[in-house]
Amino acid sequence: MTTKKLGVNTICTHTGEVKDTQFGGAISPIYMTTSYPFMDVDVKRYPRYFNTPNQKAVADKIAALEHAEAGMVFGSGMAAISTTLFAFLSHGDHIVLANEIYGGTFNLIVEEFDKMGIEYSFTEGIEVNHFEEKIQSNTKIIYIETPSNPLLSITDIEGVARLSKSQGIMTMIDNTFASPINQTPLDLGIDVSIHSATKYLGGHSDISAGAVASSERNMDIIWNKAKNLGGHLNDFIAYLLERSIKTLGVRVDRHNSNAQYIAEYLDIHKAVEKVYYPGLESHHNHDIAKKQMHGYGGMLSFELKSDYNAVTFQNNLKLIKPSMSLAGVESTILLPSLTSHGLLTAEQRMEIGISDNLLRFSVGIEDVNDIIADIELGLRGSEF
Ligand SMILES: *Cc1c(COP(=O)(O)O)cnc(C)c1O
Repeated sequence: MTTKKLGVNTICTHTGEVKDTQFGGAISPIYMTTSYPFMDVDVKRYPRYFNTPNQKAVADKIAALEHAEAGMVFGSGMAAISTTLFAFLSHGDHIVLANEIYGGTFNLIVEEFDKMGIEYSFTEGIEVNHFEEKIQSNTKIIYIETPSNPLLSITDIEGVARLSKSQGIMTMIDNTFASPINQTPLDLGIDVSIHSATKYLGGHSDISAGAVASSERNMDIIWNKAKNLGGHLNDFIAYLLERSIKTLGVRVDRHNSNAQYIAEYLDIHKAVEKVYYPGLESHHNHDIAKKQMHGYGGMLSFELKSDYNAVTFQNNLKLIKPSMSLAGVESTILLPSLTSHGLLTAEQRMEIGISDNLLRFSVGIEDVNDIIADIELGLRGSEF
């Protein structure tokens, strides 16, 4: 089947699937084996070689969704990110990273890179010129994350790709928040797209996985590092991820429409100071988002007015769960000031626009009126 001409939901449902030649079953059989023949075979299979039938099935599906030549799946988003970075960076190299970046990625850089003699710079903003400012003669990679966490800022993907190409620098994106349904960065010139598949690709808050998609040539380089680091995905979880992605398109459509509805509702609400959602025309980067995204996603943040207590609000909720993770079918919410950004001082948080009343909302696929009713329930009784 040539995947180029298939629609995105057909790719989600079918691409990559393993044919059950033994019984003709409708879905990919699960092959849990760690032992495959090595004589008289074209491919030597082994889980840590990232080439078992179930690993290949889901990796091929993700590659097709990302419009990439090839893909690989990992045991977590961080396994995918660390393996990919270490595959292309050596002692003496330099990387430029967006300043609004996932906390785990930030920790990987600041805790491990010095020891390995890899230099890094974080930008002072997420505009193309902020990346340009930090380029050095030894810069090998520019690494972006858009939409960002938790303020949903948007980086001009094509602009960064063009800048990097002109200087012979490689580009990587953490595409987790958008999912390949809402954003296909390789089409815009990015070299490598990375996912925490624990989020939208898995989508049911029950599996940990990661994914990378790129050219055959780049994936060979990543594979050579990956087999040494050993961050592969277990075959049963690979099967669950394949199963999850069958509904990725329909899930993300619903996340998009629910989030847009709720963003518009909150935007004119008397209890709300500000809403951050790239689908709102008032969003600081709406024009770029409109140009490069196919949908605006299920993540939004909002700040309650100072006469509301965000902690009480969160505790009053019945349907929306306070939770560290995101992108599941169920709605979850968190206070960045107490969680992801809890180690910063209140002053440092204000500097980057994260007030104590800011809530990051992962909008689920429930009926939107039930979500709205829960927000109203939370607001009642959280007024000072
Ligand atoms: C969760 C997340 C990661 C890390 O993924 P894990 O599966 O937890 O290792 C990386 N980037 C983003 C944007 C994430 O949300």
